[in-house]
Amino acid sequence: MNEFKYGASCRTDMSVSPEIKFLDRDPPAIEIDEAQEILERCYGLRGDLRPLSSERDQNFRVDSDDGARYVFKIANRSESVDVIEFQLGALRHIEAVDPSLPVPRVQRTHRGKDYEEIEFSTGDQHIVYLLGFLEGIPLAESLAADCSDARRRLGALLARIDIALQGYFHPAACQQHPWNVETCTRLAPFTVHIPNDADRAMIDDVFDHMAGTVVPRLRRLRHQVIHQDAHSDNILVDPEDDHRITGLIDFGDMLYGTIAAEIAVAADSVPDEVDDIVTPVCDIAASFDAELPLREDEVDLIYDLLCARAALAATIAATRAARIPQGSAGRRAEQPTVDYLHQLREVGRLEFTRRLRAACRFPVLCPTTPQEALSAADEARMVAARHALMGRHTTHFYRQPMHFERGRGPWLYATDGHRYLDFYNNVPQVGHCHPHVVNAIARQAGALNTNSRYLYSSVLEYAERLTARLAPHLTACIFVNSGSEANDVAWQMAKLVTGRRGAIIMEDAYHGVTDVIRQFSPGRPGKVLPDFLKGLIVPDPYRGPYRNGESDLVARYAADADRAIRDLETAGHALAAFMFDSALCSSGVPDVPEGYLRAVEAKVRAAGGLMICDEVQSGFGRMGQWWGHEHHGVRADIVTMGKPVGNGFPLGVVITTDAILNEFMDKTRLFSTFGGNAVACAAGNAVIDVIETEALIENGRKIGNYLRERIRDLAKSHALIGDVRGWGMVTGVEFVSDREQQTPATLETARLLELMRRQRVLVGSEGRDANIVKLRPALVCGKSHVDRFVAALDHSLRSL
Ligand code: PMP
Repeated sequence: MNEFKYGASCRTDMSVSPEIKFLDRDPPAIEIDEAQEILERCYGLRGDLRPLSSERDQNFRVDSDDGARYVFKIANRSESVDVIEFQLGALRHIEAVDPSLPVPRVQRTHRGKDYEEIEFSTGDQHIVYLLGFLEGIPLAESLAADCSDARRRLGALLARIDIALQGYFHPAACQQHPWNVETCTRLAPFTVHIPNDADRAMIDDVFDHMAGTVVPRLRRLRHQVIHQDAHSDNILVDPEDDHRITGLIDFGDMLYGTIAAEIAVAADSVPDEVDDIVTPVCDIAASFDAELPLREDEVDLIYDLLCARAALAATIAATRAARIPQGSAGRRAEQPTVDYLHQLREVGRLEFTRRLRAACRFPVLCPTTPQEALSAADEARMVAARHALMGRHTTHFYRQPMHFERGRGPWLYATDGHRYLDFYNNVPQVGHCHPHVVNAIARQAGALNTNSRYLYSSVLEYAERLTARLAPHLTACIFVNSGSEANDVAWQMAKLVTGRRGAIIMEDAYHGVTDVIRQFSPGRPGKVLPDFLKGLIVPDPYRGPYRNGESDLVARYAADADRAIRDLETAGHALAAFMFDSALCSSGVPDVPEGYLRAVEAKVRAAGGLMICDEVQSGFGRMGQWWGHEHHGVRADIVTMGKPVGNGFPLGVVITTDAILNEFMDKTRLFSTFGGNAVACAAGNAVIDVIETEALIENGRKIGNYLRERIRDLAKSHALIGDVRGWGMVTGVEFVSDREQQTPATLETARLLELMRRQRVLVGSEGRDANIVKLRPALVCGKSHVDRFVAALDHSLRSL
């Protein structure tokens, strides 16, 4: 029986036989006269005593002469002082911590004590104590009505009780207890008393599953003193007042356990005859969770706790019936819980847990093993639903779309039961679901989320920290919700303060989706642009018109800006701004010749235009330093930010000079409801925290260099790799079918992406010929992730 060890903090004594407590009920049978006499002696109370039912103790309701009501308790003679002290101490603690909780109040004796040990005329010694009486009828007696409201109140009440008990402990909390689900397998030998073979096999199966799988997981959950007996006889309600809970009684089954067990016990309050046994448990769990948030691992074990509790109840009932036979007529004592267990198993762990998770708004359960993987049919259903609900043209990566429900650091967890290395996504800059960012979002969301027309501190802190990391002239922020919006505002600003209407971009730029910014996003060269917009030839020394080894690359590429400015003027537009992405991501991260952007800047300024530096891709350390435009050594008039700003939480920022901002605001009074909301700013602050405390920019420089080095090594054995370039954590790998001719290997690249997926590595392609793989791993990646990526690339190139 001693197969389990318990944590050092609280060892449950397993050595004593479990029989004693649950078989020996034998309540005291003291005469009312004697009870009355003791009550007067200890408490100075006289009144009318009426017996109340109890399994182990003898209880009287006391209607005292002074009009007050109490419950006078004569404890079972086998009850020890420490157990009584544990219970009464808990009631005192709850009263002190949250006096509004409807639990019995402990009354003091004449001698100022919570209890007395009395020798009765029977010769037995019993502990006696007095509790305040709580009005109401047991929920069990009013269950005919739909009690979903009562159950919701019950969940909330239990949570508040457990919150109150968090700071309470007593060594007796760890004594062995027959109803402790964590030690339920100790009762496995007693299943012999269940006469029906199939029922017994089912209950044995529950105990086996508990021992093998559940108990080790239970031990990792939070533990504290819990009430553990909130079944419908112990909850008092006022039927005249919409089943308002007037009391929770019976603290005799308290123990040191998991709060999830409270929910499993409270499910007893669900009447036998309901068809749907899941919804009532969801009601209790969700309302508990709203007061005392449950952890995911707790929710995921509630189903097992319900099964274990039912198995325990059936075993105890059958054993008692066997020991104290009362004739075999009628329904067997264990039958209701056996039936409940059948119902639970019919629903199944997966479906039950799925609904519990939804009730508490936990994300969909993600399989952790390939055996639990969702089927292709599930995914096909999702794709069909997307087409129906989100339009036929919703796109997805890969021929067979990927389904993720979870991410962590550089990993995405798919419903095929595998994890995938994410080298594509540049939004979760500090890794998927970084706990510091997640906590910041959750904590701010739990405190306040409102707009920047009110004063609150996070937006100011954020603006101060952002501007402190930019050049000294960039001091003024406008907060929006996306990169597109930021670029849209930047363009409005540029037009307004210059009084001009012409713009230059890269010929294959991408800057976003608003009506005007869509026009700034041709995505590929050669697209016809509106006449106020001119595209520059991409300064790509690998496959552009002027190549490595030729002279004057900077001057020759930059000369295209002269041409663009002239073309604009011809079309009747003076230059307002040049908008560019420092990583030139949509151009495939070309190795921009050193000095090129400074040369273009000089021409832009000479023509009276502003520099709009789109840092949506290149900012926040992506290029090995805080800002991409600083890598190129240009001065920004307006900086725009998006994507990594909130590590996935929507947030866009425009930062400019005081003069530009004020002139713009004077004329527009622009305001974005969600821009700079308190939660977004909390996310933004947390991202800066992580980048700095984890020294991620340095890490990105180091790991990015290592990545390119390793790919260049691979190029020695794979002729398809034509060029490898990049800075920090943005890398472009260009694939060519002929290195001499630099023939783009478009088809091979497409196949490579699929092969990499089979190796469980995610990357994307880019460039006019879609032959460039762009890599933007999270800045938290280390060498081991790079090694894994390189191994996958090597393998995929071999199997091409
Ligand atoms: N600018 C650049 C350089 C981008 O890459 C993107 C998005 N890919 C945007 C702006 C637009 O950002 P969002 O999708 O958040 O509107």
